[in-house]
Amino acid sequence: MEHKIEHKSISEIKDFLANHSHQNMSNEICGFVGFNAETKKFIATIEKNEAVDTRSFFSISPVSYLNFKNSCSMLGIFHSHIMGNENPSEFDIKMSEACCLSFIIFSINSQNFSIYEPSTKDYDVKLLDKLKKKLK
Ligand SMILES: [Zn+2]
Repeated sequence: MEHKIEHKSISEIKDFLANHSHQNMSNEICGFVGFNAETKKFIATIEKNEAVDTRSFFSISPVSYLNFKNSCSMLGIFHSHIMGNENPSEFDIKMSEACCLSFIIFSINSQNFSIYEPSTKDYDVKLLDKLKKKLK
């Protein structure tokens, strides 16, 4: 994990993700979003992008994934788009459907977030709805 925020306010989480995206405009940045049931706070992390082509893709190590999953309840996987808009690519949709987690995307161009939800959901749908409303 490279950066982390834990906060009650979703707008703080939003700013954290947008700010880190802007700090690295030539590479996709990526991380996780979750919820800590004990502290009742949302958590977001920025993880190392291990893809070969970090301008168009992202990849996070399985160890980072497990560490995050063990520390709180996972809501979704975050990444930025440095080109185009915030809509999920065909690849994003496939990945989201395969891991049963939502994909949270921020576009540097449009300054907008989008959330893609897979048909089979391995996360708390009510919590994700909260996030969805504030990220729009
Ligand atoms: Zn994407």
